[in-house]
Amino acid sequence: MAVTQVLEADVLRRQDPELADVLLGERDRQSTSLQLIAAENFTSTAVLAALGSPLANKYAEGYPGARHHGGCEFVDVAERIAVDRAKALFGAEHANVQSHSGSSAVLAAYAALLRPGDTVLALGLPYGGHLTHGSPVNFSGRWFDFVGYGVDAESGLIDYDQVRTLARTHRPKAIVCGSIAYPRHLDYALFREVADEVGAALIADAAHPIGLVAGGAAPSPVPYADIVCATTHKVLRGPRGGMILCGRDLAERVDRAVFPFTQGGAQMHTIAAKAVAFGEAATPAFTLYAHQVVANAKVLAAGLAAEGLVVTTGGTDTHLITADPGPLGVDGRAARGRLAAAGMVLDCCALPHGDARGLRLGTAAVTTQGMGEAEMTRIAVLLASVLRGDVDSVRGREEARQLALEFPPYSG
Ligand SMILES: *Cc1c(COP(=O)(O)O)cnc(C)c1O
Repeated sequence: MAVTQVLEADVLRRQDPELADVLLGERDRQSTSLQLIAAENFTSTAVLAALGSPLANKYAEGYPGARHHGGCEFVDVAERIAVDRAKALFGAEHANVQSHSGSSAVLAAYAALLRPGDTVLALGLPYGGHLTHGSPVNFSGRWFDFVGYGVDAESGLIDYDQVRTLARTHRPKAIVCGSIAYPRHLDYALFREVADEVGAALIADAAHPIGLVAGGAAPSPVPYADIVCATTHKVLRGPRGGMILCGRDLAERVDRAVFPFTQGGAQMHTIAAKAVAFGEAATPAFTLYAHQVVANAKVLAAGLAAEGLVVTTGGTDTHLITADPGPLGVDGRAARGRLAAAGMVLDCCALPHGDARGLRLGTAAVTTQGMGEAEMTRIAVLLASVLRGDVDSVRGREEARQLALEFPPYSG
């Protein structure tokens, strides 16, 4: 099914032109500017078809074969397929595919392993920890006693000595590894060793790299972590949602932590779409994609460095890059605004040292569009030209538009 059919369905245009225009406007925005937000991607039209299917109508509290509602014979099959594909894709003994989002998956992981008041060791928020890793405005910071480890101010790399020291001092019930902004692979074996030493559980929040793991382009946390939390909509390229992987021993606790402890009815259209995405991620084409995402990120990082930005950790192992645009005379927040006006959409982030904001960007979406190394170099040059003021926002917008139009995310 072509995306135009999904988005421009005559019925929506006839019934509600106001909303039809919004959908069309967003589709045009996505296809005429450069989507460099590290957490975003373009799902396939098959995934969109599952999301827009009548499975959206179905109530299905519980798990396949044990539902609190009738009429679940088809959605049960969808969920079983999603679970089996996730287990095979990641080599996990158990998969729960019901989490509504990455944050819900983390909440369920805590519910399965912790009690309120327990101590948890996680990457501090100023260094790239997620809201669910102890932010005071999130349930995690309110209900648990978080201790934060950091990154080395010079290298930007995780300070593993500090992880070990803090673990020995605070004896956490759980250690969380995972980040919204860390561009390097994590040393899961070392985290496991530290967790074992202090008797803590290890939770890997692999929301960002799980798609690279699926494509064999990043190390897997599955053999090391007690629970792996993930999203399905980042590099993995599925529908917006969460997922949990664990061993057989924790399967029942994890399932009960998702439903009925933290969620109600499962979203069966999303679960069907997750199954479609897992099917796609198991193909050789996705393996190629995942490796191209990383190759593109390395070229983009090198290009940004050549243009004078300071790339955190000196590069990347993944799809994700963080960089300080300071040497070009602009801080991260101003840079994000200027780039948005020039058709390059990305985020700000914290930097390892000082209070200045940096830029966070990724190559998952542009790689899905079919862009390669040559385009990454073009993007690096254009981005820096806009930041230096050599190219104004009108011309930048036009150049970004031309590049995006050469690689339509959805054709037909
Ligand atoms: C994206 C992300 C999440 C949360 O995902 P949502 O679906 O937005 O709730 C959690 N943890 C990390 C490390 C992430 O990168």
